[in-house]
Amino acid sequence: MTQRFSFSLHATDGHARTGAISTPRGEIRTPAFMPVGTAATVKAMMPESVRATGADILLGNTYHLMLRPTAERIDRLGGLHRFMNWDRPILTDSGGFQVMSLSDLRKLTEEGVTFRSHVDGSKHFLSPERSMEIQRLLGSDIVMCFDECPALPADRDRIAQSMRLSMRWAERSREAFGDRPGHALFGIQQGGLERDFREESAAALKEIGFDGYAIGGLAVGEGQEAMFSALDFAPGMLPHDKPRYLMGVGKPDDIVGAVKRGVDMMDCVLPSRSGRTGQAWTRRGQVNIKNARHADDPRPLDEACTCPACSHYSRAYLHHVFRAGEMISGMLLTWHNLHYFQQIMAEMRAAIAAGTFAGWEAGFHGTRAAGDIEPL
Ligand SMILES: [Zn+2]
Repeated sequence: MTQRFSFSLHATDGHARTGAISTPRGEIRTPAFMPVGTAATVKAMMPESVRATGADILLGNTYHLMLRPTAERIDRLGGLHRFMNWDRPILTDSGGFQVMSLSDLRKLTEEGVTFRSHVDGSKHFLSPERSMEIQRLLGSDIVMCFDECPALPADRDRIAQSMRLSMRWAERSREAFGDRPGHALFGIQQGGLERDFREESAAALKEIGFDGYAIGGLAVGEGQEAMFSALDFAPGMLPHDKPRYLMGVGKPDDIVGAVKRGVDMMDCVLPSRSGRTGQAWTRRGQVNIKNARHADDPRPLDEACTCPACSHYSRAYLHHVFRAGEMISGMLLTWHNLHYFQQIMAEMRAAIAAGTFAGWEAGFHGTRAAGDIEPL
């Protein structure tokens, strides 16, 4: 574990970038999509299956793991990698966002946040120091600063107040994280859709100094157009030679638009969550496998996809097992969705390296616009 965390940029095409993050647990090819393993599992997937889709890294949630089974228990059992049988890099969020979105009876002070667990009502406290401790106990490779962010739309005063608190917390997070060779700490830019606040936040983070920089506070209800407007300026405010991570994004077209604007890493529950509700994402857009049109259809979900769901099963089978409530339904659709998301990332990495991103992007949108194959 002596190897340092580092990022090398291999090529750019417009604002889009491709490169690699080196960690002692392996390389992360960028742009990278990180599947979300909320409760120490990417739901419905074995870790080796997640890896087989092409994922180099996955995300774990501090908020969920601190409540159940607790960070201390995971530490006693050898850390999160060993606990969940995933030996490649793991990024953990700080818990801040989910405390705000999931817990009850929150009390926010300069010191941190006191809240009640959504699981059993027990009382907990999270602060920059406690979040760093939990992420260290989990054994996370990429640790996120503890921050706070308002849902959008919010007024400028609320956004500024929240951003400045997050910057003070970023400084405390840096201090508490200390010097841990081979592990990285990412700062999180806040400031909503306001250019001046994003600039102020980026300057504060650069002054502290981090191994990577996240763009936080987007994909929180503002819509794609507003998010892209913010991404037209936000990534460029962050250091060119460090990875940039857009948190909680997104749908395939959100991901493509973010990469086009200079984002290197993303995460989202969408491919796994929609896999469990009968929703598939393909080159041709979204397919609702519940729909009766699939009941007699012997064709695969996507004839060009090489995932197990598309290689060995028909739309009729996927429709049947969803309707019958069989577990394999969520397993196959999650696998397909994760495979498709990783396929997009691999194609974008290749297109950026070849300097053909604009042409690739036109093809991506063109195939989607044509829509799903005609019913039989
Ligand atoms: Zn497939």
